[in-house]
Amino acid sequence: MRTDPNIIVTGTPGVGKTTHAEVLAERTGLRHVSVNQVVKDRECHEGWDDEYKSWVVDEDKLLDALEEDNVKAGGCIIDWHGCEIFPESWIDLVVVLRVDSSTLYDRLSSRKYPEVKLQENIDSEIMEVLLQEARDSYDEHIVVELTSNSTDEMESNVDRIEAWIRQWKQDRAADGGQ
Ligand code: ADP
Repeated sequence: MRTDPNIIVTGTPGVGKTTHAEVLAERTGLRHVSVNQVVKDRECHEGWDDEYKSWVVDEDKLLDALEEDNVKAGGCIIDWHGCEIFPESWIDLVVVLRVDSSTLYDRLSSRKYPEVKLQENIDSEIMEVLLQEARDSYDEHIVVELTSNSTDEMESNVDRIEAWIRQWKQDRAADGGQ
């Protein structure tokens, strides 16, 4: 029985997941779980892909590591560009961040992404791949799509998620933990 919710912040690389998760963690005291960091630190991968300049994730090892960290007990802001691997029973809210493709292009270019990876990510954002993944993996009532083109939007997203967390806790308390 969770007393704090688990929230996934997902979306194409560059949409602002880490930025949102860090601010949210600071304001709410929830734990920022950077899945990229877990993959790297706990070696949940099958090696390095030189073309994409990224680790090839071993999903079984990753889930084991998150299980060891007791993520399912709650209170985590899970920051990753995917959401389908987490058991539905672990998750209370899925926030899918979206950006305009020109904004995404600028953000990913400044990260010096290889051209093939940059283009794939822009296409994925236009095709709403992560939004669809979230809708396919979780109940529609817990999936929220928010835009992250500007700092103002980020601020209002964080306010909204904070309010959602307060309400979730109130509802749980009113239910007497049922
Ligand atoms: P992700 O974790 O999704 O890859 P980041 O949080 O690392 O994305 O953000 C990528 C870049 O875009 C960073 O330089 C960050 O400062 C900037 N950024 C993210 N969200 C916003 C936003 N809502 N408004 C302006 N800049 C943003």
